Amino acid sequence: MRVRKLKNKTLSLTNDGRLSVFFLGVGSAFSKRHYQTNLLVIKGEDHLMIDFGSKAPQALFELGLSVTDLRNFLITHSHADHIGGLEEIMLTNRYVRREKPNIVINTTYQSILWDMSLRGGSAFNEEHGGEVLTFSDMWEVIRPTWLESYPRETHEANVGSINVKFFRTMHIPDWPDNWQSSFWSCGVLIDDRVMYTCDTRFDTDLVFSFENLFEPEMIFHDAQFYNGGVHAGIDELNTFPADIKKKMVLVHYGDNWEDYEEKIKEYGFKGLGQEWSYYDFD
Ligand SMILES: [Zn+2]
Ligand SMILES: [Zn+2]
Repeated sequence: MRVRKLKNKTLSLTNDGRLSVFFLGVGSAFSKRHYQTNLLVIKGEDHLMIDFGSKAPQALFELGLSVTDLRNFLITHSHADHIGGLEEIMLTNRYVRREKPNIVINTTYQSILWDMSLRGGSAFNEEHGGEVLTFSDMWEVIRPTWLESYPRETHEANVGSINVKFFRTMHIPDWPDNWQSSFWSCGVLIDDRVMYTCDTRFDTDLVFSFENLFEPEMIFHDAQFYNGGVHAGIDELNTFPADIKKKMVLVHYGDNWEDYEEKIKEYGFKGLGQEWSYYDFD
């Protein structure tokens, strides 16, 4: 893996064919310095946007792209720092580009995302014979396959040459000790090589089960600088074995990260995730 700084603030959605990931932001939900945490996967002619929060459209604009340039999406859960930019995606695609973007989504989360979040701002812009717009008027759905034998609920889909497996996590509320009792949220495994937990509480079983199955080359892990609440604390993550920590890159962190840089190095993590750099996997 190599980290490649973005040149001239111009993001490209294609590359020479290697697997590459790029964070539009690496900050927490309320970060004022780092555009939240949303991840773009790029491979050859293919791309997949994982989450698109309220600050993502601005980040994309500053990176020289239009929101309608993004064609493929996967959403990990319904907090606004992950879905807040989707209304702009839906409306600009329907009324400006006039083409539906693709979304990888299972039936369970489609109902949650539409009925609890997206519908209010998009369904009622049109009415035809008493019918308002539906999820499938806004999105071309790529339905994933359920991988029944996996240790926790996991689905798989291919977006062009990009393979994604997304697995249930325990993010909200702050008390269940299992994913079954948590509200719907997921993390992602990309091409069986790169694990991205997305938002999750500290969950050793999550990391170990995918470590045992795939030994991912890198783990991008949710992190906060204190324990408790709905994210993983760095002191909790420090209990992982050294060989896991050395491939663990921390994201979704607070604006006060300079205060913890030393500690993160001392604990043996690979480091803090970098915004606006390509992580290239050859
Ligand atoms: Zn978040
Ligand atoms: Zn969240």
